Amino acid sequence: MAVVGAGLAGLRACERLRAAGHTGRIVVLGEEAHPPYNRPPLSKELLRGTLDRDKLPFRQRAATEDVEWRLGTRVGAVDLAGHTVALDDGTGLGWDGLVYATGVRARRLELDGAAWRHTIRTLDDALRLAPSLAPGTRVVVIGAGFIGCEVAATAVERGCEVTVVEPLGTPLERVVGAQVGREVQRRHEQHNVRFALGRTVRAVADAGEHLEVELDNGAGLAADVIVEAVGSVANTEPLDGQGLDLAHGVLCDDGLHPLRDGEPVLDVVAVGDVARFPVRAYGDAPIRVEHWTMPTDMATHAASSLLAGLAGTQVDSTGFAPLPTFWSEQYGVRMQSFGLPHLGLEDVRVLDGDLAGEAAVGYHRDGRLVGVVLLGMGKRMLEFRTAVAEARAASLEPAR
Ligand SMILES: Cc1cc2nc3c(=O)[nH]c(=O)nc-3n(C[C@H](O)[C@H](O)[C@H](O)COP(=O)(O)OP(=O)(O)OC[C@H]3O[C@@H](n4cnc5c(N)ncnc54)[C@H](O)[C@@H]3O)c2cc1C
Repeated sequence: MAVVGAGLAGLRACERLRAAGHTGRIVVLGEEAHPPYNRPPLSKELLRGTLDRDKLPFRQRAATEDVEWRLGTRVGAVDLAGHTVALDDGTGLGWDGLVYATGVRARRLELDGAAWRHTIRTLDDALRLAPSLAPGTRVVVIGAGFIGCEVAATAVERGCEVTVVEPLGTPLERVVGAQVGREVQRRHEQHNVRFALGRTVRAVADAGEHLEVELDNGAGLAADVIVEAVGSVANTEPLDGQGLDLAHGVLCDDGLHPLRDGEPVLDVVAVGDVARFPVRAYGDAPIRVEHWTMPTDMATHAASSLLAGLAGTQVDSTGFAPLPTFWSEQYGVRMQSFGLPHLGLEDVRVLDGDLAGEAAVGYHRDGRLVGVVLLGMGKRMLEFRTAVAEARAASLEPAR
């Protein structure tokens, strides 16, 4: 068995394959030199300097002690028909079953000066950025999604002068809507983060002592450090030319098998951020969900699905309905999200509490709860998570 990608999804796939009874050889091929580690602290505790990098690697369980880890090894191409992978070091490896778990990489803007712009996806990215966040450093963050907002909060807490540039009207608008976005903005501004909203970056230039960020309205921002947090691109290239649909991730069926001409490739599964699959009960087109809890939920199903596929059968996927769950942390306040709030941005209601303090915010589509975002309210997490899960379960029941 070959696993491409040594991140959370690759690790969980190994564990679940063993738990599902696979005793054969498993080889994991990972581009990064590090064993699987936890990414969420990269933009939070690690950047803040409150967590040592030694705490990041995931614990290796006894069941996967015999898994072979080939780290620092990039897979350049996968041959589905020939059952091989070609590695960038010129070697190759045969497989009978394949787990594809390559995650995503940071999207880059088409601007000069890529070398001056930081991204934050990997441990190496974070280790490169952290030392530059000294008091008084002028930081421009491009993009006010979750990672941009977390970096802004962390940098300002470290004494930096932070400006966030974002094309939309509020931070986090696409994911949690303008109402919650405005409150997030207020909290950042309270900590002296500045925003250039409705603005894009036209150019970045080396001005000698500093970098000059030119906005689309001609305004300039002087920066010592620029962090680009403008989304992600799924790492699908090794699957090019195999007849799969690789637009925005590896399109899979609900058994997590990639689809070729509408038919599942039974000896392959995709797991984690890279997979685009139908998230049951949310009815829309298959999506990728870049949430930490997903690889674990997906790996359990993918392992049974792959082992069944290798035996020439398919598992029943009707019970596979992971609930998207996400958290973020800014200024010591935990923000949590259940379901898919972005599907209910037209009908946003404060369910409890006060947006300016702690609040539970509900997102509805056709009157039905499709997501909840909590600002604080940690003690009531289970209650609201259950509400979203129950609303979803109700929508899955066959119409009478
Ligand atoms: C800074 C940051 C903060 C985050 N914070 C949160 C949070 O607060 N809450 C939350 O829910 N989620 C958070 N996430 C998202 C969460 O970490 C991801 O959803 C999770 O890591 C996905 O795991 P994965 O294994 O699918 O992908 P990854 O963790 O990206 O692992 C994929 C691995 O595959 C490797 N790879 C890629 N291509 C190849 C190739 N061709 N050959 C070999 N190896 C390859 C990559 O190098 C990588 O090591 C955060 C992510 C980041 C980057």
